[in-house]
Amino acid sequence: MQQLNYRNALDYAPIDVRKGIDLITKKIVSADAPVPEGYLPLPKCRICQNYKPDDEFTGVCNASMHEPKFMAYADMCAVTCEMFVA
Ligand code: SF4
Repeated sequence: MQQLNYRNALDYAPIDVRKGIDLITKKIVSADAPVPEGYLPLPKCRICQNYKPDDEFTGVCNASMHEPKFMAYADMCAVTCEMFVA
C-alpha cells in the first residue's frame, strides 16, 4: 500500500503548495511528508468507486445517470460530493 502523505490526508490544511498545518498536532508540515500511522485519507475522486481513470491525472465519473459522463480530475477533493463511494 502506498504511504499516505499530508497532501492527501484528511487532517491537513494547506497554507501553500509546499506546506500546511497538521490539524491534529497543530504543527506546520511539508505537504509531501508522510503522515503518522492512523491518519485518514482525504476523499478524492481517485479513491472513489465511481472514478474510472483515463490517465494519471484525469478520468471519468460514472456516478451520474446522464450521458455523456463527465470528466473528473483524480486529485479533485470529494469532501462535498454526495455520490462519493469509498
Ligand atoms: S462520484 Fe464524486 S467523488 Fe466520485 S468520481 Fe464522481 S465526482 Fe468524484
